[in-house]
Amino acid sequence: MVFNDTVMQARLPGDVYKTLKKTMAQGCHLELDLANTVANAMKDWAVEKGATHFTHWFQPMTGTTAEKHDSFIVPAGDGKIIMEFSGKELVRGESDASSFPSGGLRATFEARGYTVWDTSSYAFIKDGTLCIPTAFCSYSGEALDKKTPLLRSMDAINKQALRILKLFGNTTVQRVITTVGAEQEYFLIDKMMFQERPDLIYTGRTLFGARPPKGQELEDHYFGCIKPRVSAFMKELEEELWKLGVYAKTKHNEVAPGQHELAPIFTTTNIATDHNQITMELMKSIANEHNMACLLHEKPFAGVNGSGKHNNWSLCTDTGINLLEPGETPYENAQFLLFLVAVIKAVDEHQDLLRVSAASAGNDHRLGANEAPPAIVSMFLGDELTDIFTAIESGADYQGKEKRPMEIGVSVLPHFPKDTTDRNRTSPFAFTGNKFEFRMLGSTFSIAGPNIVLNTIVADTLQQFADTLESSSDFTGDLASLVKKTFSAHKRIIFNGNNYSDEWVSEAQNRGLSNLKTAVDALPTFTSAQSIALFSRHAVFSEQEIHSRYEIMMEAYCKTIHIEALTMIDMVKGNIIPASVDYQRDLVDLLRQKKAYGGSLDVSLEDHLLHKIAKLSSSLLKKLTTLENALGESKAQEDVLASARFYRDTIFAAMSDLRLIVDELETLVARKYWPFPVYGELLYSII
Ligand code: ADP
Ligand code: MG
Repeated sequence: MVFNDTVMQARLPGDVYKTLKKTMAQGCHLELDLANTVANAMKDWAVEKGATHFTHWFQPMTGTTAEKHDSFIVPAGDGKIIMEFSGKELVRGESDASSFPSGGLRATFEARGYTVWDTSSYAFIKDGTLCIPTAFCSYSGEALDKKTPLLRSMDAINKQALRILKLFGNTTVQRVITTVGAEQEYFLIDKMMFQERPDLIYTGRTLFGARPPKGQELEDHYFGCIKPRVSAFMKELEEELWKLGVYAKTKHNEVAPGQHELAPIFTTTNIATDHNQITMELMKSIANEHNMACLLHEKPFAGVNGSGKHNNWSLCTDTGINLLEPGETPYENAQFLLFLVAVIKAVDEHQDLLRVSAASAGNDHRLGANEAPPAIVSMFLGDELTDIFTAIESGADYQGKEKRPMEIGVSVLPHFPKDTTDRNRTSPFAFTGNKFEFRMLGSTFSIAGPNIVLNTIVADTLQQFADTLESSSDFTGDLASLVKKTFSAHKRIIFNGNNYSDEWVSEAQNRGLSNLKTAVDALPTFTSAQSIALFSRHAVFSEQEIHSRYEIMMEAYCKTIHIEALTMIDMVKGNIIPASVDYQRDLVDLLRQKKAYGGSLDVSLEDHLLHKIAKLSSSLLKKLTTLENALGESKAQEDVLASARFYRDTIFAAMSDLRLIVDELETLVARKYWPFPVYGELLYSII
């Protein structure tokens, strides 16, 4: 269902195909008559596949996707219709920009926005609609989406990486792209149970819930056998993804009960971003068809692991060479070492921006909670590469490690060479053989943001390297000293140990690494002078575009917590108090009847329960009132930063207090009175 290279080649006249390919690879201009031919071929192909509509599919700054459908239908007189799709409709669409957050880039009355065909991502058919991946910008040309700056960042890194390759004598490479494979974690629960939880419906996470007798402590779910219902879902999901050109490859259970993961085969960052959006969308819709709900929130349940997304990232030439591939003898591979040290410098210098790219209200529940990397950005290189750099730094010879056979001690098992380096699952940014795995992303994120940052910071370092080396009269000597100098200056960012340990937090502090614990701490660094200069230098974001994104992220943070607080209040007043009142009434009735029964029936149990619940009820009222009052003050904050701090320090704190009381109440009120399915039921709802 993808208008991919094979389809294009089969359906487009040879010269049109060639020009389109050139536009796709190098971003050249496409004439309107050519666009007309492409549009017509796309329409014929789509109609044959049952499509009746087309849409410009785009990714507004909310991080989700948007589409507005138009049919191909054009009246042809005599009550007849023909199916038409013009080059103009393919290339450009007009969309109401005022209904999407613009972070101050547009006034609400200025409604014009344009969607523009992204030729570098294939069109596809979803639900009978031809979807054209597009960028989204305002009347005055500012990017209103996530795709435009991502494409700009890919251009930036391409430009600088080519300069470096040229220095190494490589002139055949035309383009350097960044590649990404995004591993996606998610939870599945039964749909009926989902529908009974307003918190899941409105906020994507449970706002209440006492710990179940069994969580993930037996470590029996990860890689465990996949339940038949889940397996049927995964099978359909994969098939639907394959149809859309998303090559889902790996699937398995994750650590928490009800948690799973899907990983696709990596592709160009731009396409990987589109594909991850499609994946999340299909996960939800296909789960629904299977009478399940797919939860993509970063922390749907307290007490068990939350969900993240792992952004595997590398650099690749159009001739198919992975620039982060160390080869057999990495210590002799100067080009590899230069690219690697560029990433090390970029990550060290821009820790804060990487942290910003993983910041959200939802992800605040995960980072630093000993289930995901801490909020401290550091890098894992592994022993071999660390040894190589250490040798370079000290001027010593590096004794290459020979690949030893793996000793398992069982003669019937085949022998295989041992990897020279172990893996490290606790690092936020780990080198994994020929790519980096950035692990801080939250599961609901668009991967555009983190990749915009990654591409831009590495482009910036490569630019500095190219500036230095292009003017050098002793390339080999200067290259060696550049690698050495850069490693020395930035080695503090390398940490191969356990990132979840308390020792690391204090060690990182000693090293001067930043530790921006919450999204509210992190986000302001995005608007720093250094950040604005960086993104402007590479034409990725203008200053205005940065401010707009900052506003949107801050507002999203506040709104998320606001909705959560309102939902809590609603559940407490509408369901939890009535349930606890009912139970108390029945206990009082029983107690009265027992006393009236005569004799001396023991009422200690009823008495004890009633006292406990009555006491909790009065705390409940207090905490509820505190939260309601706090919400009343939320409007009074002077700016978005003050507001976000208020939501974090006051509202969120009041919510946590309220939750504690309700969770205890849940353990006292008889199950048949409790208005919502409890954790045990939710987590083990798929059998
Ligand atoms: P693990 O869970 O062990 O980290 P997975 O197999 O689940 O590994 O996922 C690894 C991901 O990395 C896959 O999406 C894979 O396609 C991707 N990947 C592999 N090589 C590259 C590369 N050169 N560039 C980007 N991503 C890559
Ligand atoms: Mg994986």
